[in-house]
Amino acid sequence: MISLHENGTVRMKGLKVEILLALLVMEQVFDKYHLGTIITAGTEIYDKNGKRIHMIGSLHDTGYAVDLRSKHIPDACWTTFLSDLRNALGVEYQVIIHDTHLHIELQPPIDRRFTA
Ligand SMILES: [Zn+2]
Repeated sequence: MISLHENGTVRMKGLKVEILLALLVMEQVFDKYHLGTIITAGTEIYDKNGKRIHMIGSLHDTGYAVDLRSKHIPDACWTTFLSDLRNALGVEYQVIIHDTHLHIELQPPIDRRFTA
């Protein structure tokens, strides 16, 4: 099941359909491990104190990134879980491991006009 962080600060407005699709794909992987798919950050830019949450230029700002809770993933299955997640998402998405969460983003499309 997909749910939002219980603190109520996650903003979904402007989240791109590509990230919604990724969430549905990732939910299947979390389900396989009997874990909840918990969104900890979406498109919010500032915290309640007006401090920027993500880096300037972050794909969170444009709705092309989402953060998911990772602390409930058992150490024993961490490697296989991550492998399953990356395989399920394919090459268009990048999964970045942070201390407190997984950051998933859609890779910016390559402008083929400027590549050989
Ligand atoms: Zn993030």
